[in-house]
Amino acid sequence: MNATEFDQQHIWHPYNRLPANSPVLNAAATKGSRITLDDGSQLLDAMSSWWSAIHGYNHPSILAAAHDQLSIMPHIMFGGFSHHPATELARALIDITPAGLEHVFFADSGSIAVEVALKMALQYWKSIGQPQKSKFIALKHAYHGDTFGAMSVCDPVDGMHHLFAQNLMPNLFADAPPICHHPNHPLTNQACLDSLKALLEQQHQNIAAFIFEPIIQGAGGMRFYSADYLSQATALCQEYDVLLIADEIATGLGRTGKLFACEWAGTQPDIMTLGKGLSAGMISLAATLCNERIRSGISQAEPGLLMHGPTFMANPLACRIAHSSIMLLNDYDWQKAVTQIQNTFQRTWQSLQHPDIADVRCLGGVAVIELNRTDLASRIQQLALAQNVWLRPFGKLVYSMPAYTITTQDAERLALVIAQAVMTALNEPRCQPRTEAQPFV
Ligand SMILES: *Cc1c(COP(=O)(O)O)cnc(C)c1O
Repeated sequence: MNATEFDQQHIWHPYNRLPANSPVLNAAATKGSRITLDDGSQLLDAMSSWWSAIHGYNHPSILAAAHDQLSIMPHIMFGGFSHHPATELARALIDITPAGLEHVFFADSGSIAVEVALKMALQYWKSIGQPQKSKFIALKHAYHGDTFGAMSVCDPVDGMHHLFAQNLMPNLFADAPPICHHPNHPLTNQACLDSLKALLEQQHQNIAAFIFEPIIQGAGGMRFYSADYLSQATALCQEYDVLLIADEIATGLGRTGKLFACEWAGTQPDIMTLGKGLSAGMISLAATLCNERIRSGISQAEPGLLMHGPTFMANPLACRIAHSSIMLLNDYDWQKAVTQIQNTFQRTWQSLQHPDIADVRCLGGVAVIELNRTDLASRIQQLALAQNVWLRPFGKLVYSMPAYTITTQDAERLALVIAQAVMTALNEPRCQPRTEAQPFV
């Protein structure tokens, strides 16, 4: 059995069956926006490894910091110890995140950061004597991760987790805001706010927090929405004394054209989660930040401890890498780079038209073609791959979030190849319903 066959028979891949229907590619090396495969061929990367490699792969200054840290102290338990990588990173995060977020919990993945955020909110209300405030409001189409708490705030219908419905916390779901093309566009439909308001009116005594992905709902549909919605929704929650949890795991650190997507609406959440781009696609790291209200609430009742502590909490290597990545954000004009990506995709895709193209939208470093058909994801991926572009569409969504450091020439090529793949696939005669599984995410 060669390595590819072994993989196919023995190793689970994200949201996949085992054995897998089709083999995966073997990656051998990465650099900038290029992925080199075992066979020596090179792919241009449209995905940044799921939003994470914001400065491209193997950025030399981050690599240098990583090598240095690796030789000094790759890990030490965080129980009873602290270290420069953690304190420097926490200072930087408190500095750059929205006002009020002053306390940091380091977690080892995005889902765990969400678990900690939910736990903080629940523990806050318990500590201040309102334990009945124990439910969460999330939005339809939300995605917040794969662990049980996180699953319980993912879209209950479209989400990936309907399998576990009866094992999850019974949370509440408000209608998602309509898709819009720019956060500065006004909210076109008030019904989504009415849906949130109705839940708050009826059940605010039982609601701990509202958790949301600011401005872009990611894995649940790549839905961009109006900042107007965010400011009105968060104001409603504050009126009903419901905490705000901003999940910036995908949107944080520049992806939407603001350092944090909350900034589009001036939102100051009580709790914020970060992950993905936080460690620049090099290693797993996430963080949950909270304000003084949450900290002091949790601390005021006995025992006053926040009951969470992963083994690899605040791993020094990961913290050092994340700190170096944030420093890099100050070193080049990331905002200009992200705007350039947006403009390149917009320019190349503006004339795309087909009865089965439902929508084309670009914001910051995120570009999306939404189709009316869900059966073409594999075919489009295959067509892009034939042009040496790494793309991973899912369902009716074909999307790209390249590294901020991609050259304009490479971004143009991405946009062009993706557009051609989409048009070619759409214009092929429809075949029999596919039996082959489509990529899920
Ligand atoms: C990816 C993602 C998560 C989960 O992060 P993992 O590191 O995959 O556990 C949570 N929330 C949002 C918004 C995400 O995009």
